[in-house]
Amino acid sequence: MNTRETLKINESGHLEIGGADTVTLAEEYGTPLYVFDETHIRKMMRVFQDTIQDAYNGNGLVLYASKAFSCKAIYAIAKQEGIGIDVVSGGELYTAMLADFPAEKICMHGNNKLKREIEYALECKIGTIVVDAYSEANMIDEEAKKRGMIQDVLIRINPGVEAHTHAYVQTATPDSKFGFSIADGTAEKMTAYVLGKKNLRLKGFHCHIGSQIFEKQSFVLAVQKNLKFMSHLKQTLGFVTETLNMGGGFGIWYTDEDAKLDVNGYRGYLNALIETVKEGCSEYNLKLPFITIEPGRSIVGEAGITLYTVGAIKEIPGIRKYVAVDGGMFDNPRYALYQSKYTAVLANRANEVPDELVSIAGKCCESGDLIGANMNLPHAETGDILAVLSTGAYNYSMASNYNRNFIPPAILVNHGKADYIVKPQTYGDLVRNDTLPEHLK
Ligand SMILES: *Cc1c(COP(=O)(O)O)cnc(C)c1O
Repeated sequence: MNTRETLKINESGHLEIGGADTVTLAEEYGTPLYVFDETHIRKMMRVFQDTIQDAYNGNGLVLYASKAFSCKAIYAIAKQEGIGIDVVSGGELYTAMLADFPAEKICMHGNNKLKREIEYALECKIGTIVVDAYSEANMIDEEAKKRGMIQDVLIRINPGVEAHTHAYVQTATPDSKFGFSIADGTAEKMTAYVLGKKNLRLKGFHCHIGSQIFEKQSFVLAVQKNLKFMSHLKQTLGFVTETLNMGGGFGIWYTDEDAKLDVNGYRGYLNALIETVKEGCSEYNLKLPFITIEPGRSIVGEAGITLYTVGAIKEIPGIRKYVAVDGGMFDNPRYALYQSKYTAVLANRANEVPDELVSIAGKCCESGDLIGANMNLPHAETGDILAVLSTGAYNYSMASNYNRNFIPPAILVNHGKADYIVKPQTYGDLVRNDTLPEHLK
């Protein structure tokens, strides 16, 4: 089990998160329930920013990747911690603006930004937009011109490194909907194109090589390719790169198949990346760029758990045992989407040794609606509180109202004290936008 300070087993044998008893939380707030530990979130935001401070004279900024978990509270925390954010839609930007997030510290991504999203970003005076298509460069340039502005942009490049958890591949002919390839020359062409736009100020480049990455070498290789490209552009176009955005992707612990990195472990990844930037800049005689990184999963993933109540239990002799909970793919679609693995604990009997292999099923009308297959659990009974760990990233943000189930509320625990950060939905919320044409009334 996860042994960070976030999670503990208390004297009653209950699982505790951030100093709060999860069984009490389940009684007070009901289940399913997302629970986040504020201390862990802040610690992770700080470790990345402190590493940039210590190893790179503070010449960089952590941008929390909103898509991992977006709501007003997370932006309020990021603002207090002095870091920036990235957003990938008008909706994420709107949420950040409601939380009074400083627009100059926001970076916008997306492979197909809509005109209304670009207009909104310019109205907000967003710091940076990452350009990922010719049509987008044209649109941002035009909209900026209309407003008498010059917009800072980066170009998304594809360095030809693709990372997969414990391995990486170098791809010569990259097939991705994201970015412009260095290898085939399209990245350079795009650079020249953007430099020709009067209302765009090209600051540099962005790449994001994957997610849930543990292989340090993938980051190092991507940085090396970027620096070589920067050196090439200095010679061919006389372009000096001021900003290098390395994206996110640091891995987290879901099950014991994953490494359990502590703060120093994450420091190690960022240090390796920074050292590679320094070495490359000295080798190619380049100005040290302002560096940005975009951790999402590593900031909120392990900070969050989901609490469920065990309902129906069904044993199919010789095949498997299903333990059904009051949630499912509507609050965590990651098993259905990617067969993602999780660790589950009986929160009210957290000391018991797991001695059964069960499939944890949701309540949706889909056979594939599982939280996980073949998960280790102690003998579960109806009414037990089940905690699924490391659900802070890409659970709430990917949740839906499928089957007209409620998206669970989220609470934030701070040294034992809990508050809502996302309130419970009601039946009224589910039908808010339903309407009847005259002839059906
Ligand atoms: C998804 C994404 C991130 C965050 O990735 P994590 O694996 O959650 O750290 C950062 N930047 C971009 C552009 C992304 O698409």
